[in-house]
Amino acid sequence: MRKCSLNAVNEVFAEIAKAAKLYLPVDQADGSAAFKEWENGVTWSSALNTVKSPKDLFFPQTEDLMAFKTEGKSIEVIDTRREVEDFVVFGVRACDVKSFEILDRVFIKEPVDSYYASKREKGVIVALACTKPSETCFCTAFGICAEEPCGDVSAWKTEDALYFRANTEKGEALMKRLEALTEECGEDAVNAQKEKTAQIMKKLPLAKLDTGAFGGGKTEQLFNAPEWDELSSACLGCGTCTFVCPTCQCYDIKDFNTGNGVIRYRCWDSCMYSEFTKMAHGNNRLTQKERFRQRFMHKLVYYPENNDGLFSCVGCGRCLAKCPISMNIVKVMKKLGGKDSE
Ligand code: SF4
Ligand code: SF4
Repeated sequence: MRKCSLNAVNEVFAEIAKAAKLYLPVDQADGSAAFKEWENGVTWSSALNTVKSPKDLFFPQTEDLMAFKTEGKSIEVIDTRREVEDFVVFGVRACDVKSFEILDRVFIKEPVDSYYASKREKGVIVALACTKPSETCFCTAFGICAEEPCGDVSAWKTEDALYFRANTEKGEALMKRLEALTEECGEDAVNAQKEKTAQIMKKLPLAKLDTGAFGGGKTEQLFNAPEWDELSSACLGCGTCTFVCPTCQCYDIKDFNTGNGVIRYRCWDSCMYSEFTKMAHGNNRLTQKERFRQRFMHKLVYYPENNDGLFSCVGCGRCLAKCPISMNIVKVMKKLGGKDSE
């Protein structure tokens, strides 16, 4: 384990940024935080979490896929892909680190999504342990340890220092570059910090949220549950919950007419939208209840059914904080049988 003084953290960022783009949480004018590229003068935010997750850096909200140039009757296909440069994402919380395992199972599986895979190959994740989890956090329900995040490098912030532990080859290479700015150290301060966070986690209101009613094989019990009517009745179909979610992975592919050609791009889509997966024959899900049910059944039943029991929610709490009608996955879980256990 290595450490640097918090006073020296900007030197660490500058050193990282010499060889790779560095992204980290930065405070925004509206009081929220967002992942931004670091440059001299940019200050690392102490916010617990960003509104949009770091998923955006690997699976951007909009991304060009290819282009076509037309001239008369001829069409030229243009590969718009650029080689992805090395980049480092600093300050990823344990829940968001786990979201990459969920996304990887979708995108890095035959057929491999080369756009996502190339960014995963080049990106280095520096995970940051939580010190002040919020009452909307429930990562523990999914077996995630907020005090022990596991990226390429794990980092812990205490009152006066930042501690690092490399977990992968990429992480070791990064820490090697930081050798002159960090020093070898013991683990006592980190262990004390972990214990403090663990104690806070135990007292959070959602600490005992029970996932027992969900998982693979539960479609028959849950699909036709009468509770879906009430749960979905006020849903606006705004898609906010899907856009802030680190594990949502649906996208649409669209063509933009440039006048003498076409740019084909993809952009995030939402199963909460009325035109989601609309096909020539019409729409698969005609009501908001069906769309709403799809979102939660996918996270809590279909995804784990196809992915060795892994839920497609990491308990980050973003949808709890952002839904305009205060509906969220916790209310769905409680209503459908996931009770607070003793
Ligand atoms: S659950 Fe909330 S955030 Fe999600 S689509 Fe419905 S109203 Fe919007
Ligand atoms: S469903 Fe909500 S709590 Fe779960 S990962 Fe998505 S935004 Fe976070």
